[in-house]
Amino acid sequence: MKTIIYLILTSILSIGGSTPKLEKFTVSAYCACEICCGTGSPGITASGHTIEKGDRFVAADPEIPYGTMLVIPGYNQNKPVEVLDRGSAIRGNRLDVFFGFDPNSSCTPHEKALHWGVKYLWVKIIKVERKALYNKDLHTHRRY
Ligand SMILES: [Zn+2]
Repeated sequence: MKTIIYLILTSILSIGGSTPKLEKFTVSAYCACEICCGTGSPGITASGHTIEKGDRFVAADPEIPYGTMLVIPGYNQNKPVEVLDRGSAIRGNRLDVFFGFDPNSSCTPHEKALHWGVKYLWVKIIKVERKALYNKDLHTHRRY
């Protein structure tokens, strides 16, 4: 039985090339609204990414470089999303998934973020090497 579990785990870990690892994270959600990001939020993430309609990305601890791809169960149809933002409360094993405006959806991004709530999930970290593409934080979004 132990061997079977080990084999399943190693096969999960080997997907995606450069040995992704699984770690458990507390995952909250946010959107670009004033409640989530404060007034006068520039519509640009800490990495300099301009927020677009239907955007899917994640804010992570500064230890996790921008460009790192994460697979977060239940988010973005379980497809990898890029770390593009930081947050003042997003430290250690904390993540914040972003919900952008979706014209095909009947609920607002903020409703989606509230609906997500806080989850405790196993997240797959796929390391992506990017040479000094983003070298400086522009700002971090706040959480209230
Ligand atoms: Zn919001």
